[in-house]
Amino acid sequence: VLPWDMGRQDVLDFSEELVKQVGRPVILPSGDTSRVSASIGLSSRGFEVASAKDLLEQADFALFRAKEQAAGAVVEFSSRHAESKRREVLVHQAFKNARLDREIHLVFQPIIDTHDGTISRCEALARWDSPEIGMVPPGEFVPIAEKAGMTQEMTLAVFRKVIAQLKVWPDNACIAVNLSAQDVNSQQCTDLMASMLIRQPPSLRKRISIEVTETSLLTDFTEVHKNLMKFRELGVKIALDDFGTGFSSLRYLQELEFDIVKIDRSFVSSIESNDKSFGLVRTISRLCRSLSIACVAEGVETREELEHVRAAGCHLVQGFYFSTPLTAEKMLPYLTGEESFEGMGTLVPVPRRDVA
Ligand code: C2E
Ligand code: CA
Ligand code: CA
Repeated sequence: VLPWDMGRQDVLDFSEELVKQVGRPVILPSGDTSRVSASIGLSSRGFEVASAKDLLEQADFALFRAKEQAAGAVVEFSSRHAESKRREVLVHQAFKNARLDREIHLVFQPIIDTHDGTISRCEALARWDSPEIGMVPPGEFVPIAEKAGMTQEMTLAVFRKVIAQLKVWPDNACIAVNLSAQDVNSQQCTDLMASMLIRQPPSLRKRISIEVTETSLLTDFTEVHKNLMKFRELGVKIALDDFGTGFSSLRYLQELEFDIVKIDRSFVSSIESNDKSFGLVRTISRLCRSLSIACVAEGVETREELEHVRAAGCHLVQGFYFSTPLTAEKMLPYLTGEESFEGMGTLVPVPRRDVA
């Protein structure tokens, strides 16, 4: 809390200095050097606030934005922030009141095995059509649900829909479900999912996979391990999503016994222009093969990207090049083989070596 009469520039200078001082290396008694960094969010009476609490909330909001930037950032609460905070509050309120079973529906994006053009599985992606505020994309409502600790209800609603869908789709159709960090870390949520699964025949359970991201594994490894093993014991496959964006720990790959690794889109979209991305995709796909883990390239949008990921040894592919997410009804003819995805036609066949 700074004196009322300090000018804006003085406040910024003070903050920069604070970050600089906190960031100075500290020599520990052991002789090692320790470094910490600080980020700062600022708010002032520039925006309408009813109370000190509002002011703190604004500073907190700016701090969130600061943390998204490089360490040591200083961010002032701005009118742009005020707008996105208003939207966040609106979405949060609507989500809290939502009847998710009714308001959420699923679309499905195929993961294609480019050896032969068959569908390896479909990823279920949530769409929320709120009667209060209209369509909200998952990139917006999932982080809000996560921040508010409200993912469980959403995940269970999605999971129920996935099980229902598998019952009406052909027997060879498999579905992947996304789990939030909180779900994977929650004994209650994973128990509830397991109790839904146990009521299904093994032949249905083995058609389900769950996708978890690296960041969800960071909090309590033992708890996450225990929760994930509930799925494994029931025959559900486990995928590591967005691989390469977090810590990409080999320990996770080995100890959590992943069946599938999904290479993040950021590597795929830079694969043509960046030799390092190509090298990384090749290394990850080799690593997966030697560990008997299936490897999927995410976000393949063009023919060139497809050729590159295949040349790098990755033959399971998801992305707009083959298909955007489709409704269950539109997906059906592809699952029955009545229709096939364009773009497979002229691919040079390669011998099948990887696991599926
Ligand atoms: P994700 O799990 O990485 O899902 C893939 C996202 O990439 C989807 O976005 C998909 O539409 C998009 N995508 C697929 N191919 C391409 C491509 O070629 N180019 C580009 N630019 N994008 C592509 P969507 O459906 O908007 O979902 C965004 C994120 O929201 C998902 O990322 C996932 O983290 C989250 N999400 C979606 N549904 C659920 C859900 O049911 N539960 C949870 N916990 N998270 C979900
Ligand atoms: Ca996913
Ligand atoms: Ca992903």
